[in-house]
Amino acid sequence: MICVYPGSFDPVTNGHLDIINRAVRICDKLIVAVGSNETKKPAFTTAERIELIRQAVGFEPCIEVTSFSGLLVDFLKKTGAKTVIKGLRAMSDFEYEFQMALLNKSLEPDMETLFMMTGVNYSYLSSSAVKEIARNGGKIDGLVPDCIKQRIFEKLKGGK
Ligand code: ADP
Repeated sequence: MICVYPGSFDPVTNGHLDIINRAVRICDKLIVAVGSNETKKPAFTTAERIELIRQAVGFEPCIEVTSFSGLLVDFLKKTGAKTVIKGLRAMSDFEYEFQMALLNKSLEPDMETLFMMTGVNYSYLSSSAVKEIARNGGKIDGLVPDCIKQRIFEKLKGGK
């Protein structure tokens, strides 16, 4: 089974990585797909976001990291995947994800969305929180992998 894990990943966090590492155990191939929707005004370019995920994941033959634009259902068709993986942190994620899953299903009835609960240590973790802390020079230890900490600070001009 090929699964697609889509998101902004602006930047990737340990919460995303937890989902990636768990998802890869239930599929043959996982495609981590960075949405290049510029209207969201990301802090990191699409290429940077891909690069940070690659660095964080390391060499793992079952995981492909790429980008997509346009509709997720069209990207799925291109890759031959029928299954989307999404993480759920709290009730606040639920409403939006519920709507997206039903919309996608109406566009492409063959597509399934599988939800994974956040890891117990990551329910409070979001990319925007990481950016806010880094911009203000706070510590992001434990929130993102050590190997990408420096690049996040350089980009966001934080301290420490
Ligand atoms: P955000 O910008 O809110 O961090 P993304 O668009 O990058 O989120 O998220 C992509 C996917 O990863 C979504 O399914 C989201 O629910 C999930 N996700 C994000 N952070 C976490 C986390 N800490 N734990 C579990 N899932 C997460």
